[in-house]
Amino acid sequence: MIPAVQIVGGGPAGASAAISALLHGAQVELFEKSTFPRHKVCGEFLSPEVQPVFEKLDIWRHFLGKLPAPIRRMELRIGSAVKQWSLPEPAYGLSRFSLDKMLLDLAAERGARIIKHSHKGSTTGPLILAAGRQGSAPKGHRIFGFKAHFSGPVEDCVSLCFFSGGYIGIGPIENNATNVCGLAREDTLTAVRFDIDSFVDNIPLVKDRLSRMTRTTRWLVTGPLIMSTSLRKPRHDLIYPAGDALSFIDPFTGSGMASAILTGSLAGAAAARGRSVESYFSECRKSLSQPFELAHLFRRVLERGWADRVARFIPASVLFRMTRIHPFAI
Ligand SMILES: Cc1cc2nc3c(=O)[nH]c(=O)nc-3n(C[C@H](O)[C@H](O)[C@H](O)COP(=O)(O)OP(=O)(O)OC[C@H]3O[C@@H](n4cnc5c(N)ncnc54)[C@H](O)[C@@H]3O)c2cc1C
Repeated sequence: MIPAVQIVGGGPAGASAAISALLHGAQVELFEKSTFPRHKVCGEFLSPEVQPVFEKLDIWRHFLGKLPAPIRRMELRIGSAVKQWSLPEPAYGLSRFSLDKMLLDLAAERGARIIKHSHKGSTTGPLILAAGRQGSAPKGHRIFGFKAHFSGPVEDCVSLCFFSGGYIGIGPIENNATNVCGLAREDTLTAVRFDIDSFVDNIPLVKDRLSRMTRTTRWLVTGPLIMSTSLRKPRHDLIYPAGDALSFIDPFTGSGMASAILTGSLAGAAAARGRSVESYFSECRKSLSQPFELAHLFRRVLERGWADRVARFIPASVLFRMTRIHPFAI
């Protein structure tokens, strides 16, 4: 009998899970409550680790066909410290509008049945929970994310500018556009009534760079963002959590989508082959535990205002390497 797998969520984790489960011979039903394509708050930086996973799913050529912007350099600004380095392999910038549509379209073309409404998450068969971030935080102490696209001079570099409690990243995406995305504490955003143009105007380095560019989309805001300290242990024998539903890594790492695509792909294979949730989870732990723990530690350092000091001693390229996922299982 052909195994049947249900998937909740059609973002990078859910769509990758669908493609993977289909490759392993399952029938797939995927539930997505939003209308695609849609913009989403995200830095839209895809780390190099997505390549082996996309190759395994046989979608690397489709990804390159979307003409993602190659990213070859990184720049980190923390207080007065500025660190720059080159990436050994290119990362890529591609809008979520384009990436998420590409993945969901491929899942549908390869045979997934896409059901355009919400799923409650209860099940009697294998179910992949790829419904995104979860969690709440007390009002006043929350963190929100924001993003917009800009036109203007493009660089093959992602600049990350850290400030008290948050950061802003600026990086290229397809069609010579630039993504500007960040996160900040609720109190600092409330002080400008969530007017993000005013907020970025108060950060001199960002203001200077944006003064040469024109905003082409409205600011999207999302939150609250609850960063996970570790991977959430699955609680059900038949439910494979993947992507942000498994754990939400601090976005400054640029590892969120790679984690979602990797865990989605592993979950799809495991559910299709009848492998236990427990063995799937231990595979995820091998690939993701170190970057999650280090990202959590770095956030603590940021919150205490020590990032400036740490950045003087730890080369930024080392910090970047330490927060990469390891797609061992692929
Ligand atoms: C400010 C910010 C910046 C970021 N920058 C980066 C970056 O530069 N690089 C990077 O790699 N990552 C980044 N991330 C992280 C990245 O966005 C996530 O890790 C990624 O979106 C996770 O994919 P996912 O498929 O798990 O979840 P999602 O992309 O959230 O997809 C979940 C999907 O499930 C659907 N859904 C939810 N509930 C249901 C339901 N009950 N029934 C049916 N459908 C449902 C939703 O509509 C959604 O489409 C950033 C995140 C934030 C907040």
